[in-house]
Amino acid sequence: MIPYLTRIKLLEQQRSNLTKKKVNLKRLISLAKSERLLISIAILFLLLSSATQIIQPYFFGKIIDNALTSDTMHLVNINVLILLGINCAGAIASSFRSWLFELSGQRIVYRLRQNIFNSIIKQEVGFFDDTRTGELTNRLSSDTQVLQNAVTVNISMLVRFLVQIIGSLAVMFYLEVTLTLVLMVVVPMIILISKQYGSIVQKLRKKFQDELAAAGSTAEESISNIRTVRIFGAERKISDHYLDNLLKSYAVGKKLAWNTGLFMGIVSLLVAGVHDRKLSTGLLASFLMYMLQVALAFAFLASLFTDFMQALGASERIFDLLDRQPKIPSTSDSTCCIKPIDFDGYVHLENVCFTYPTRSDQQVLNNITFEIKSGQKVALVGPSGGGKSTIASLIERFYDPQSGTIYFGSQPLNTIDPQWLRENVSFVNQEPSLFACSIRDNITFGFDKNNISLDDIQLVAKQANAHDFIEQFENKYDTLVGERGVRLSGGQRQRIAIARALLMSPKLLLLDEATSALDAESEHLVQEAIERAMINRTVLVIAHRLSTVRNADLVIVIDHGTIVEQGTHDDLIAKEDGIYKKLVLRQLMAGNSSITTE
Ligand code: ADP
Repeated sequence: MIPYLTRIKLLEQQRSNLTKKKVNLKRLISLAKSERLLISIAILFLLLSSATQIIQPYFFGKIIDNALTSDTMHLVNINVLILLGINCAGAIASSFRSWLFELSGQRIVYRLRQNIFNSIIKQEVGFFDDTRTGELTNRLSSDTQVLQNAVTVNISMLVRFLVQIIGSLAVMFYLEVTLTLVLMVVVPMIILISKQYGSIVQKLRKKFQDELAAAGSTAEESISNIRTVRIFGAERKISDHYLDNLLKSYAVGKKLAWNTGLFMGIVSLLVAGVHDRKLSTGLLASFLMYMLQVALAFAFLASLFTDFMQALGASERIFDLLDRQPKIPSTSDSTCCIKPIDFDGYVHLENVCFTYPTRSDQQVLNNITFEIKSGQKVALVGPSGGGKSTIASLIERFYDPQSGTIYFGSQPLNTIDPQWLRENVSFVNQEPSLFACSIRDNITFGFDKNNISLDDIQLVAKQANAHDFIEQFENKYDTLVGERGVRLSGGQRQRIAIARALLMSPKLLLLDEATSALDAESEHLVQEAIERAMINRTVLVIAHRLSTVRNADLVIVIDHGTIVEQGTHDDLIAKEDGIYKKLVLRQLMAGNSSITTE
């Protein structure tokens, strides 16, 4: 027994699911509203084509009767011509109907896909940590397809089958009221009785087979053990035993016979009721065709129901996504609208604590407090996995800290206009991702392309040491970089990303220095580009190179999510037993250029 309270809860849940389903169904149907004109015209054509379908059996019956009763073929010919005309009209109406429904479906879905995509793209970064890309693209492709079918094809089928049922029944009434009434009662009764009979017979047959098998095995056992039967004189006993088994199967057989007789009797009685009328052959043929139309329409309606249920599921997933409000506003959101006009690059982190939403048991940052003064170059160093990139992500507001505040000037980050933030802070990743478009489009990504001249693009590309290699390509700035920029080397991709950041001309530049191995030439070019990008700018760099750290105004050592040391390179290197000193010494001894331990 389910406890009373649990039962109440289950009932409440069922009720709220039902309300949700109803709301979703309403919203699903309301999707079609935007195309009501097209859909209305489509429904008109649908009614027309259905009407032609309903009328056909009537003329068909007439043709048969004419052919059987009249001496000339004149009437037959006229009716054949009419039928042909009806067929043609039906075909034309059908093609218009299909075209208009398909067109309105495509229009609804393209708008829906755009809305879903807008909703996906404005979600906070944490949402994407938690949701699989495949799942989201599925919403855009197959779920929307299911909805397209539901609001167009399925709705049109629903109307069509309802019209077919109502229309066919109407004509049947027109042709012969009593016969139609009788059929309306008799046919469902025959179907019900047949179903009932079928299930009874199935059970009885199984039982009959079982009893027969038991009798068979008794006989087999006795015959094969005939010597033992003889020795003990058990012929009579064995015979009785076999008879017992036979009687059991016979009893079941009797039941079977009785049920079959009863079924045949009832059905014959019902059919006799239908049969016992004077109908012309043609009328009977029309009747049968109408019956078939009604029966088929009912069968299709049942399968439509399954499609609707599937669409309801898809719509729930889609509406949930459409309704989801991002936890961090995107650039298209205007609710956080403060633009710190006097921002000079000064950023202050105060007691920042952070846990990734997908890994709530691991505190990644603990009470992080530091400031980046205007124009300063601040280097974050420390063992891999310590939390350096996470700090950069929080300053970019990819995530919000659970506690503590990040200030831009005197303004808390969570009150700042996201658009302003994107224009004033830029992030150059160590593995920059490019889009599968031209170099020019990648450099101007996020800008209004028409406002940027090729001269502007070339200027930043030169500063980023990218111009020369771009000029060597046949299509120069129009060269396509391939998916994620695969047609470029790692060093080239980084220089494009630096050019992109330079075009933005951010007040604050976040840099993640590359640890991946580049060839010496490329490394030199990238390094030079980075140094140029840092000039006259406030910079926070996740540093891996000793040269970068040496030149930094402040070095912050992060380990296990906390600041363990901070100061200039000289201050920290002077510390006995300092973590920073150990990192640097290890690098010098290993002779590599990275001060990050993996
Ligand atoms: P660092 O930049 O110092 O190498 P990170 O800031 O990248 O360190 O990572 C700090 C910790 O946070 C690591 O334990 C890492 O596994 C975890 N982490 C990083 N990104 C995510 C993420 N998107 N979701 C969950 N955990 C993450």
